[in-house]
Amino acid sequence: MSDCLFCRIAAGELPADIVYQDDRMVVFRDIAPKAEVHLLAIPREHIASLDELNEGHDALIAYIMRQLPRLAREQGLSSGFRTIINTGPGGGQVVFHLHVHLLGGSDLPGFH
Ligand code: 5GP
Ligand code: ZN
Repeated sequence: MSDCLFCRIAAGELPADIVYQDDRMVVFRDIAPKAEVHLLAIPREHIASLDELNEGHDALIAYIMRQLPRLAREQGLSSGFRTIINTGPGGGQVVFHLHVHLLGGSDLPGFH
């Protein structure tokens, strides 16, 4: 059994509010939402962070990015959404399985 939290969610070993999944990625609601809509999109493959990416991941990362607008629309975010990827301790990353935060809705916090 993996000791990675998000690998365990992807494997169905830990519960999560999953809104989309396929053979390459899983998308679920953040347990501590920072906005009205706050999803986490992860590859099924364990990649610790952007720091660990190599050329072999190019298609996977592009695929994940390409799903995000549809996922946002399905959550009712018709006017747009925000994506965040934290990398490393200096970037505020806490869970070391690559994930894209997808945020939006009426209580989206300011960023500037
Ligand atoms: P990071 O700071 O690593 O970019 O973000 C990790 C995110 O994972 C945080 O927003 C945190 O709320 C979320 N998170 C941590 N543990 C869990 C969990 O067990 N389930 C879910 N759904 N989200 C989690
Ligand atoms: Zn993992």
